[in-house]
Amino acid sequence: MSFGDFTGQTQVIQLLQRSLARERLAHGYLFTGHELEVLEGVARTLAKTLNCQAIDSRNQFDSNRRGAEAQSKKGEPTIDSCDQCDSCRRIEQLNHPDVLWVRPESKSRIITIDQMRELMQTVNLKPTIAQYKVAIISGADRLNPQAANAFLKTLEEPPSKSILILLTTEPQRILETILSRCLRLAFAGEGLHLSNPNAAWLASFSAEAAKADSGLLGRYRLLGMLLARLTAQKSEIEKSLTENSPLAKYEDLEPKMREKLEDELNASVEAEYRRQRTDLISGLQWWLRDVWLAALGMNTEMFSIPGNAAAASTAGQRVSPAEAMENLQVIERLQRQLNSNVQEALALEVGLLKLKF
Ligand SMILES: [Zn+2]
Repeated sequence: MSFGDFTGQTQVIQLLQRSLARERLAHGYLFTGHELEVLEGVARTLAKTLNCQAIDSRNQFDSNRRGAEAQSKKGEPTIDSCDQCDSCRRIEQLNHPDVLWVRPESKSRIITIDQMRELMQTVNLKPTIAQYKVAIISGADRLNPQAANAFLKTLEEPPSKSILILLTTEPQRILETILSRCLRLAFAGEGLHLSNPNAAWLASFSAEAAKADSGLLGRYRLLGMLLARLTAQKSEIEKSLTENSPLAKYEDLEPKMREKLEDELNASVEAEYRRQRTDLISGLQWWLRDVWLAALGMNTEMFSIPGNAAAASTAGQRVSPAEAMENLQVIERLQRQLNSNVQEALALEVGLLKLKF
């Protein structure tokens, strides 16, 4: 596959192609998205394009190759792998000595410290035949802390002509120390399924966030909107689950039985509330991703939530790409904290007040 084949991922592909054209690639990438297969495909294509024999040293295309015909609207050549040369074919077949893959071990589903040490040793050797060494860590959320620590130093100062690409569908499980050392690319997904009330909430939240009031008061107003929605969500869940509980049908239950059913009801209210809270905050996360795209100057056609695109554009014009990326990290950290039983109100307040609009 070449970049041109990933039609559903235009914005991320364009960013990568632009960085390739300007020879300004990061040393460490974190690709996050819903499908590991897509992330692997793009990582493989990036490795191919870096080492494609049909692209000469100035990153221009050999005029006889297929890629030369691919021109962007502005007439700039679009950098892509040819998918035919020996190097491209070897990378596709996972048979290239300079493109290294690490995946969780099949039994434990963990990436071990030994796997990472071996990888780092190979990365630190000069490329065998290629221009660039590329190390791809698929399922990077499965790195245990020791294994992650084993390669932090390489991630911080990778040898020249080497690129590390981490892939994950669960960015909330990636260690902070790794997140802060990678350039994060969020892939579009079909993952956004907001309920109607949540979608309506997100529309008013994003409109409020796009207003010029970016001071503390404005952020407290946003926090208030989130808390109000969560409170409403919880009482809707309580109401509907209580109505459907056996407790509502039988009045003369034995005390023990009643107690057991009440415990069960409370547990299922809590579980459903957590699920819906995650959905709501994911929606916010997708919108903040659009704000980030806007800050990067990307076209609104590429946004995940078309209904809130105007608000994302307005907000995106007021923040730098780095600030917009920090917003995304703040929300991810918030999701992670909420999943780990941190006190909810405190986590929400700290998180929301850190957002920059
Ligand atoms: Zn090629």
